[in-house]
Amino acid sequence: MKPPVTYTCLCCGHTQAFATSTAAYEAGWDIAPFFTLQPLCSLCPAAPLAMKGIEAGRMRHAPVHSRWGWEGRPREFDVHQEILLDINEHILAEGKPS
Ligand SMILES: [Zn+2]
Repeated sequence: MKPPVTYTCLCCGHTQAFATSTAAYEAGWDIAPFFTLQPLCSLCPAAPLAMKGIEAGRMRHAPVHSRWGWEGRPREFDVHQEILLDINEHILAEGKPS
C-alpha cells in the first residue's frame, strides 16, 4: 500500500494526511497537480492569496484562523464569512486618510 500524502495549508497551517493526492483534491484541497498555488485546505480561499500575496492573504484570514483555534475548524467552507471579511477590508481601506 502506498504511504499517505500529507499537506500543510499555506494559509492556516492546518496539516492533514490523505491516501492519495486525488483524495485530497476531492476533499476540497487545492494541491498539485491540480493547482499551482498550493497546498490550500478546503476552508481557505485561494483568490486572496493569489491577488494579494501569501502574507497579505494570510493576514486577511487570520481572524478566522484564531476563531477556529477556540471554536474548532468548521466542517464546510463559509462563503458568508469570506464576504464579511471582504466588506470589512473595503470599509477599512475607504476609511484610510489619503
Ligand atoms: Zn487553510
